[in-house]
Amino acid sequence: MSIEVKNITKLYGEQKALNNVSFSIEKGEIVGFLGPNGAGKSTMMKIITGYINASEGEVFVNNFDISTHKLELQKSIGYLPENNPLYLEMYVREYLRFNASVHKIPKDEIENIIAKVGLTPEAHKKINQLSKGYRQRVGLAAALLHNPEVLILDEPTTGMDPNQLAEIRSLIKEVGKDKTVLFSTHILQEVEAVCDRVILIHNGQIIADKNLKELTENKEQVIEVEFDFKIEKQFLENIPHLKSAHNLHDTIWELTFDTSKDMRPAVFDFAHDNGLKTLNLTAKNKNLEKLFRELTA
Ligand code: ADP
Repeated sequence: MSIEVKNITKLYGEQKALNNVSFSIEKGEIVGFLGPNGAGKSTMMKIITGYINASEGEVFVNNFDISTHKLELQKSIGYLPENNPLYLEMYVREYLRFNASVHKIPKDEIENIIAKVGLTPEAHKKINQLSKGYRQRVGLAAALLHNPEVLILDEPTTGMDPNQLAEIRSLIKEVGKDKTVLFSTHILQEVEAVCDRVILIHNGQIIADKNLKELTENKEQVIEVEFDFKIEKQFLENIPHLKSAHNLHDTIWELTFDTSKDMRPAVFDFAHDNGLKTLNLTAKNKNLEKLFRELTA
């Protein structure tokens, strides 16, 4: 087991930020820690990495008990904190060398990591000259320097534009091939794009822990469709396999079918046969989204 969290409770004064949280993560898993702002994600990550203490409970990382082997535990973790603090006046390479010196890491290795996270073209610049996306890469490189088995990434994609998002997500996937990764996010699509498994946290409690495969294999199909005209709900009931129809906005509908078969062609044909145009037609994996919405409502 890479990470084991047992009955963790954290109080900030009177406030219970975590309430009896338990989960374990196997070696090699990429797990999304999903929850709305204030759910307790950062608090949990700070406890796992030993930056703050829990009020109650136990944490083991790579079999090191945090209460007795904190230093060894920290050495086996790469941590990218939220709002990753960087020395903005330092050059990228200089900053990474500075970090590497703490762990006595050879220069070659630093260059390997710079290349791995795609920083080579920016490595000669000052950190304050970098975009948010590249700054996060510097943080990620720093977290990877000592070749930790476990990576803890706290909201690594906050504030990125769509291109940067796609890049950093695929980078996380790439480095996750030979590491255990726990990363937090409040964005559902991120979990779907990157993870094997999702742990959903809300109000300091774990409310779901699921394999993404399990969720996607659910025999339901949800389609969002936009027609060019407003229509009545009854009208839609002629589409085969339709379980429910939900009017999202004006001419936009969310249709749920009791089959996993792709029903987009059927919806398209239905519209065409009835003199409607489909302006937009998207198949959505609504299972996780539904769960997220229901559980955090
Ligand atoms: P998330 O990372 O999911 O946004 P946090 O772990 O940051 O959530 O916060 C969980 C709850 O604990 C929030 O209500 C937050 O206001 C509170 N909290 C976090 N840090 C502190 C602190 N240092 N002192 C008091 N309350 C805190």
